[in-house]
Amino acid sequence: MSELLPVAAALAQVLASARPAPEALELPLLEALGYTLAEDVIARVDVPNYDNSAMDGYALRAAQAGSALPVSQRIPAGAPGDELRPATAARIFTGGAIPPGADAVVMQENCSERDGVVTVSGAVAPGQNIRPHGQDIAAGATVLSRGRVLRPQDMGLLSSVGCARVSVYRPLRVAVLSTGDELVEPGAGELREGQLYNSNRYTLAGLLHSLHMTVIDGGIVPDSADLTARALRDAAAGADCVITSGGVSVGEEDHVKAQVQRLGHLDLWKLAIKPGKPLAFGRIGDTPFIGLPGNPTSVFVTFCLIARPYLLQLQGVLEPAFPALRARAAFAVTKPGSRQEYLRVALVDSPQGPLASRFPNQSSGVLSSVSYSNALAVVPPGATVTEGDMVQVIPLDLLA
Ligand code: AMP
Ligand code: MG
Repeated sequence: MSELLPVAAALAQVLASARPAPEALELPLLEALGYTLAEDVIARVDVPNYDNSAMDGYALRAAQAGSALPVSQRIPAGAPGDELRPATAARIFTGGAIPPGADAVVMQENCSERDGVVTVSGAVAPGQNIRPHGQDIAAGATVLSRGRVLRPQDMGLLSSVGCARVSVYRPLRVAVLSTGDELVEPGAGELREGQLYNSNRYTLAGLLHSLHMTVIDGGIVPDSADLTARALRDAAAGADCVITSGGVSVGEEDHVKAQVQRLGHLDLWKLAIKPGKPLAFGRIGDTPFIGLPGNPTSVFVTFCLIARPYLLQLQGVLEPAFPALRARAAFAVTKPGSRQEYLRVALVDSPQGPLASRFPNQSSGVLSSVSYSNALAVVPPGATVTEGDMVQVIPLDLLA
């Protein structure tokens, strides 16, 4: 068992070799969703830029709220307020600028206005219902840092400081090759005995697209040494990273290993991971190479745990780790394993909190286990699980 490399050790090794990010390019903010920031964005303005009202109501001096106050001005959003005359109030609307001299806003539901004079019910505290300038962001602050993948709310945040264009890293170009004589492309005809439709190509393309990377599709590579070498060389010439599926174990039809060794160098590991196990990492010439196993479920799991963090780091993303959440196991593992197992589970709500229920068939060839699940439950090597135990879970939404 000792020759199996733990998942964390393999990950540390690949991350240590991730090279600097690709070159930066500048994009209009509206087109930058999913890209990775190539520089820190510093706020040039306060957000909000002026003290303003959080309510529709009346702006006044808190100390004068007990008296009837003539309404001396009207301040809608977008208009500057004049200095508040002593012993008066200003009619003000949400987002309106607090006039100099006022220190509180009373919501209109607590006021009554008659003949241009307003009276207020209840106590009024200085500062109430005022959103001070800089409450959200202060000028000079770092709004978002380099290495951040832009989400919709980040685009909103950047626009709130007036940022119109952003510097982002060019998306990685990742070549995907599916090895195996048994593979048939969906749409290319009926299956004969011994054949199956290529699914890894689609899973990997989807995973890479969800990471906002560019897929270079190398199609199906037959189980031949020459054709494998040619496909690998071509793929490496135009990509930032080459990913293959299948052909990395020890069978005589597994050509990927030998050809990568010829064209570059290879570390082949037997990972202490289930599903998974054989995983290759190295370079073809100068281009990073990741050889995933062939089984469709193993492809998904090893991509998510090893290839994904590696690619994100190569893309310039900082801290690509996913949070470790916990849920109660609705299953038992009675026999400790030698590999860290990633069970496909459905997370459901329960009165005791999130409950992880195991997909019945955990075979590495059963891809429905991944489609019908929404999380991976982690069972470390040597561990057993009793129903009701808290286990670590990784929601698939955080990965793909
Ligand atoms: P291999 O490592 O090449 O021996 O592949 C292991 C298993 O995964 C075999 O049963 C293959 O048929 C299957 N497999 C390999 N590549 C694919 C693929 N692209 N789509 C679906 N199944 C695959
Ligand atoms: Mg094969």
